[in-house]
Parts: sequence; structure tokens; C-alpha cells
Amino acid sequence: MQYFPIFVKLQGQACLVVGAGEIAARKIDLLARAGADITVLAKTVKAPVLSIQTTLGLKVVQKNFTPSDVDGFKLVISATDNPATNELVASSAKQQGILVNVVDSPELCSFIFPAIVDRSPIIAAISSGGAAPVLARLLRAKLESLIPPGYGQLAQLAEKCRGLVKTRIHQPAQRRIFWEDILQGSVAESVFSGRLQQAEQQLLDKLDQNHKVGGEVYLIGAGPGAADLLTFRALRLMQQADVVVYDRLVSPEILDLVRRDAQKIYVGKQRQDHALPQEDINALLAKLAKAGKRVARLKGGDPFIFGRGGEEIETLMQQGIAFQVVPGITAASGCASYAGIPLTHRDHAQSCVFVTGHLKEGDINLNWTQLALPKQTVVVYMGLVGLEKICAELMAHGSPADLPIALIQQGTTRQQRVITGTLATLPAKVSAQEVKAPTLVIIGTVVSLHDKLRWFQDIATDSGR
Ligand code: SAH
Repeated sequence: MQYFPIFVKLQGQACLVVGAGEIAARKIDLLARAGADITVLAKTVKAPVLSIQTTLGLKVVQKNFTPSDVDGFKLVISATDNPATNELVASSAKQQGILVNVVDSPELCSFIFPAIVDRSPIIAAISSGGAAPVLARLLRAKLESLIPPGYGQLAQLAEKCRGLVKTRIHQPAQRRIFWEDILQGSVAESVFSGRLQQAEQQLLDKLDQNHKVGGEVYLIGAGPGAADLLTFRALRLMQQADVVVYDRLVSPEILDLVRRDAQKIYVGKQRQDHALPQEDINALLAKLAKAGKRVARLKGGDPFIFGRGGEEIETLMQQGIAFQVVPGITAASGCASYAGIPLTHRDHAQSCVFVTGHLKEGDINLNWTQLALPKQTVVVYMGLVGLEKICAELMAHGSPADLPIALIQQGTTRQQRVITGTLATLPAKVSAQEVKAPTLVIIGTVVSLHDKLRWFQDIATDSGR
């Protein structure tokens, strides 16, 4: 982190703005919104500042800047078009440990201005650390459209009722659940639609009904790796959870999106090293939910595709624990899209089969005759170790030796790599390289489209056959 984001209280604090042109006026306006006590120093005061001088109650000092002018100020902004003055302002302020910003000169600043979404008391501030202000502004525009204007009013309602809620719900964890329900449920909707009194009444009613809130489990498909392939619902529930139970396929980027103070429990599983056996995971989820926690069970891809999600919810079902299942983008569709390999195609494949290539006692039990049929795409999960066997079996059951096949490493992430070949050539090609898990295998003539349709920049695309 190049800059540390903090929110500074400026009410009644003495702030100095050097310069009195249009840019100065914009900064003055911001400071005024925060209730600062503003002094403007400039040799000549121009129209933009003159026009706000009275309404904002600005003190104006008309002179050339000298270092002692910063004395007694908490924060200084230099917005002149004279580089020498700007430098002098910056060094004078820094000498006295006063926060200083020089407009458009990050190297002279001790703090920088973020792009702001103001839904006071809710404020979102975005910064690119000076690297790409336009990007920060674009992001702000997105947030503007995402955060309803009523958010400020919602926060005000929460503030008004906070004390009362605290006296009625003593446990902090229970209180948080209550507030999350209020702030994104029907009460919030009433505020957003301008029915403030009704919203307050609804909140009080809920408070009366609030006895004990039980825990629940969210079985969440976290997708194949790229964090922005999560669904909105997955993200929302991840940010509500008290505990997150995750395994190896869930990328660090995605874990970063979990509520910051949520407890995080890692439960494996590497191919050979199951950090926790499946039965223990099932029992753990049930235990946590029974203790009143909201548990986000994060699984790579989709929980119902080679994810043993069914087993986990079966235990919950038996024990009467509330849960919901959130689908995720499975590795097959993630990897296929990012490798430019359509899973079906009118000229190539009318069907697509997902199978697991997991070896059981050194063998793979699959219906090879069916998999060797033409005009279909076969996607093999967990197929790296058995790759040679898979290719050999398919050829033995009638697939042509030159049938295209691709191995995709860490699909959709920045480490994605696609290795293509044929049933006859790929195993040797793959074993000649260092391949990192997880990997997915796609077999069928659709793979030949990779050269034409690939759009994602892999770390090293090897498409030679
Ligand atoms: N439920 C998951 C699959 C779990 S099985 C899903 O729907 O995707 C684990 C296997 O998924 C891995 O061995 C690998 O074959 C595949 N896999 C998961 N994520 C992957 C990724 N980003 N790139 C390539 N393969 C992946």
C-alpha cells in the first residue's frame, strides 16, 4: 500500500488554500463540505473563488506566499500555477509536519485526494495512488450507480436506532446479524423508496420479534479462480459470513473478498493430502451452524460438479440446519472460455461430457467406448496424473490418434497456460514441462479452434502440435 487511507475530521480545523483560481475553488468546496475553517491566500483572487467567498465564509489573505504563512494550519493545499510557489508551500508545510497537497504534483504531496462517492455519512473514497486518476474516477462512476442515493439516509436511521438496539440485543454477533438483516432487507428498501417513517417502524417491529437467530450454511461455488467471476450472491454472502470454510482451489484473491473479521478455516484438499476427511468437513459445517454462525463453505468452481457439495448438504439436511447453495462457474466453462475453446460447436461437437480422471488404485473407471465416440467434447477434471492412461484408453477404443486435446493449467487466472497436442503427443509434451495444479483436460476437435479463438493472454501459450 503506497498510501494509507484514513478519514480526517476537519470540522472547525484551520485549513489553508494557496491560490484562488478554478482548481483552488474546487478544493475549497470539498473542504467546506467537511466543515473546515478555510483561509485562502493569493495575490489576486479570481472569479471562481470570489463567487463562493461569502457563502462559504472564507477568510481571504491577499499577498505573496512566505513560509511562515502555514503557521497554525492543520492542512495546506497549494493550487497555484507557479511551480516555485507550489514547492515552497510544500516544503514549508512539511517542515512543520502539516499535511500538504500540491495539486497535480504527487511528488510534493504528503497526502492525495481520492475520488469520492458522498452519501454522507457513508463515504467511499477511491485512489489509484496517483498512478491513474481517470481509472479511479471511472470506478467512482460505477460505485455511484451501485450505491443507491438513499444510503446516507439508511445510515442515519441506523445511527438513530443504534443505542436502542444495543440495549435490546446484547451479543455483538447477534447484533451484527440483526443489522445485516435491517440494512439489506425490507427496511433498507423502504428507505430507498423514501418511506422513512415506515422504515423506522419496521425496524422497531423487527427488534421486538428478535429472539434468537440460528446459524446457517451457504454452500458457495467460488468459480475457477478469477475473483470477478464470482456471482453477486456469492459475494454478498461471503461478506456476511462469520466463518469461512475453504479448500485449496479457492484463490487468495477470492479469500480477500471475505468479510475481514470472519474466521477462516482451511480444510484441504490436495490430491494426496486431505487436510480434513470429508466426513469431518460435513460435521464441522453442522457444528458451526448449530453454534449460531453463518458459515460460508467456499468451493472451487461449482459445488455440485465434482465438489461433493451434495454430501455436505445431506448432513445439514439430516440435522435440520438451514442452508442455501450458490452455483459457481465450473472449471470446464471457465477454462474453455478463457482458452478460446467452445465446448460445443455446430461443426465439431453436439454434446459435452464432464468426467473425473481421478485414479482409484491406479485405474480410471470410465465408459471409454462412449467417450471415444466422435462429435462430442470430453472434459476431464482431475486428469493430470492419469493423462497418459486416458489418451491410451481413448485410442484403444477408437478415437483417432490425432484427435486434438488441450491441458489448461490454472484456468482464468494470470497463471493460465494452455498446452495443446493430440492424443498421441500430449502426454509426452506435458510431462516434459513443469505443470502447476489445478489442470483441466479438454478433448475433441473443438480444441482445434483454440489457435483461432484464443483471446486471453496466457503466461506461455504452447499451441504447436
Ligand atoms: N467443483 C469444481 C471441481 C472440483 S474438482 C468445479 O466445478 O470446477 C478439482 C478439479 O477441478 C481440478 O483437479 C481440476 O481438474 C479442475 N479445476 C478447478 N479449477 C481449475 C482451474 N482454475 N483450472 C484448471 N482446472 C481446474
